[in-house]
Amino acid sequence: MKQFTIAEKISCTGIGLHSGAPVHLSLHPARANSGIVFVRTDGGREVEIPARPDWLSSTNFATSLGRGASTVGTVEHLLAALYGLGVDNVRIEVDGPEVPIMDGSSASFVFLLRLAGLFEQQAERRVFRVRRPIEIRDGERWIRVEPSRSFRVSYDVDYPHPAIQKQSIQDLEIDAGTFEREICRARTFGFLREVEGLWKAGLARGGSLDNTVVMDDQRILNREGVRWSDEFVRHKVLDLLGDLALLGTRVQGHIRVNRGGHALHQQLVAALAENSVSSVSGSLSRLTRFPETASAAG
Ligand code: ZN
Repeated sequence: MKQFTIAEKISCTGIGLHSGAPVHLSLHPARANSGIVFVRTDGGREVEIPARPDWLSSTNFATSLGRGASTVGTVEHLLAALYGLGVDNVRIEVDGPEVPIMDGSSASFVFLLRLAGLFEQQAERRVFRVRRPIEIRDGERWIRVEPSRSFRVSYDVDYPHPAIQKQSIQDLEIDAGTFEREICRARTFGFLREVEGLWKAGLARGGSLDNTVVMDDQRILNREGVRWSDEFVRHKVLDLLGDLALLGTRVQGHIRVNRGGHALHQQLVAALAENSVSSVSGSLSRLTRFPETASAAG
């Protein structure tokens, strides 16, 4: 399998979830093996921030990347679209501190990427083949990856809210088709009392019923309701794919998550990244926490 970039430049404008300010986003084709790189263009000189675990700055409410004083927040829904459609290399220019939230899902980014078209490159795609299970636990919450012939995801959530409760996706094989049909339109969600707290703290100023499924203690406040009855767990899968994109390789394995979130997702990414280094550099393997668990291969 070869690497892919986009066939031509494409751009859009939206508002930042936290700032509420307009952000211009443009996606540019990039050379093979360059990966996904964010570029802040609004500070006088351009600052490049690679979408890699080394540049992770926060997993609070959203996934943010940072380099020095420059940050780019809420990267995960765009990264999920890139991972879901199989775009390996792209330069992403933003003129503000956040990727626009659009409708709270990856659908707008998928639309943009389909408009731009994908372009197959000469270089082989790097695939991370999971050889042995890795598991990270945090009380009742856990994330686990197991060997599999393809990339699959199982995800369980359990919220004490009448509109959500227990939702589950089991053994979904993720490729561009299933991502576009089953996952990419699932929106982010929040609870009214938390949203009010965020507003008081000056956060989520761009958050509204146009880009978030909002619930009070009993029900969903959006007039149009949900896009699927289990939209919540679907969005968790979307977030997982966006977080996984920081690995910079495709994963061949089955990821299972119970009550996860960005922080837990990123702990798995860090463990996989560590293994990825050890597998290509044998002398480092004894330093890793999970020797022999996995390996990266062309
Ligand atoms: Zn999300």
